[in-house]
Amino acid sequence: MAEALASEQPARPRAAPARATAVPRPRGLPPPLLLLLYLAVVLAPLVLAALRGGPPRHWRDELASALALLGFSVFFMEFLLSGRFRFVSGRIGIDRTMRIHQLLARTALLFVLVHPFLYTTALVPWDLPFDPTGRASLGLGGPSILSGVVAWLLFALLVLLAIGRDLLPYPYEAWRASHGLGALLVAGLGTHHALEAGRYSADPWLAGFWLALLALAAFTLLNVYVLRPLGLLARPFRIEAVEKIADRTWSVRLVEERPGRFAFRAGQFAWATLDRSPFSLVEHPFSIASAPADLPRVEFVIKEAGDFTSRLDRLRIGGRAYLEGPHGNFTLEGRDAAGVALVAGGVGVAPVLSLLRQAAAERDPRPWLLIYGNRHAGQIVHREELESLASRLDLRIVHVLGEPPEGWKGEVGQLDRALLARHVDPARMADWLFFVCGPPAMIEAVEEALVSLGVRRGRIVAERFRYDVG
Ligand SMILES: Cc1cc2nc3c(=O)[nH]c(=O)nc-3n(C[C@H](O)[C@H](O)[C@H](O)COP(=O)(O)OP(=O)(O)OC[C@H]3O[C@@H](n4cnc5c(N)ncnc54)[C@H](O)[C@@H]3O)c2cc1C
Repeated sequence: MAEALASEQPARPRAAPARATAVPRPRGLPPPLLLLLYLAVVLAPLVLAALRGGPPRHWRDELASALALLGFSVFFMEFLLSGRFRFVSGRIGIDRTMRIHQLLARTALLFVLVHPFLYTTALVPWDLPFDPTGRASLGLGGPSILSGVVAWLLFALLVLLAIGRDLLPYPYEAWRASHGLGALLVAGLGTHHALEAGRYSADPWLAGFWLALLALAAFTLLNVYVLRPLGLLARPFRIEAVEKIADRTWSVRLVEERPGRFAFRAGQFAWATLDRSPFSLVEHPFSIASAPADLPRVEFVIKEAGDFTSRLDRLRIGGRAYLEGPHGNFTLEGRDAAGVALVAGGVGVAPVLSLLRQAAAERDPRPWLLIYGNRHAGQIVHREELESLASRLDLRIVHVLGEPPEGWKGEVGQLDRALLARHVDPARMADWLFFVCGPPAMIEAVEEALVSLGVRRGRIVAERFRYDVG
């Protein structure tokens, strides 16, 4: 039985009638244009250096300079990639954007780490007595070598801490703040090193370029920690109810205080700051489980995972909440689908619920299939409502349990190829869309199984609940 903590409101956001809220379109730049702009910025230092020219040097010295210039510009672009800018991630998705962020950070680090060892001149920070012209040594002045070495070490530390974040003894929020501030420190020290020690960065255009990127890096952090939260003050929500709805799973319901200011597409997610100021570092990404038609009410379905999600019962009913977003592309808008198949594992059902609720509100006539896997029956979320949705839509629901109770009539086992093969007919469903959400390992297994059954990769849309790891 659902354990209500506190709620004077209806048990869940009401569905129809659909509200006339403008549906936000994906606001991102098209990926080819993004790639072009990215390459233009990242390669600009090489072009400026080539234009500046200079006396000929050994190829290893040129390679060392090129790697330093390239690594540093790639590093600066990391601020844009991780700054949750919709023009960047609107089309490619924030999960892919963050994966690209991780991959490019490691590439930039490699370039930056290697570059000092490539110089043919001795790697010593002082002038050698037998080398008054400074040709045989790097001959860097004290402060410029110091800023370079500290930035070099700090950059490596930032990447290592991000890779091993789960092993750190402090909370996610502390890691995230230290990651941002540490990166800004690397940017500042690196710029000092480039301007003071760089052969090509002495060029006023290139120096101006680095200073502009440094200002951009500072702006992205200002935007994330100050400007965006300031904007959220005009769009407050109130916590309406917090209710345990399944094993270690909670429903958190909010209501917009000034209706009409928040809009999203079914299946999207937002960074939620619950019962705190919008400037708080404690914010978490959650898929919106309610439908746009349910606005001004918003529901999240949240599984206990760590510090914050295990203490949802402490949230004050009536407390303020803020939603930064919406983000994500786990949506039907703009995609042709003759039918929709949804594969959800555990709490991965949250965005799936949003899609189903919106479809019911719009009386979507298409065929729908939901394959919903859990370990045991106590984990099934909103079971009765799902049955009711099945009667209002052309929806077939397949419940799958790893540990079924006696007399269980649904499927038993995992969401594997054999199970999917029993319910997915790729020939009949060639024009369907497949939405997959759940733990990362489950998503990968289901995607591979679907593809091996003949579903085209381009027909599969996935939402990962953890994108910023390893
Ligand atoms: C796009 C997306 C949608 C999600 N939707 C849901 C949902 O609908 N229901 C649900 O139960 N869970 C969802 N999650 C997972 C949820 O965000 C985490 O379980 C939650 O943040 C854990 O917080 P914690 O403090 O309890 O645990 P912690 O132990 O602090 O964190 C566990 C892990 O959660 C992630 N995490 C924590 N805080 C943040 C943050 N501010 N930004 C990014 N990642 C963070 C990190 O990977 C962290 O290692 C979603 C995650 C993503 C990325």
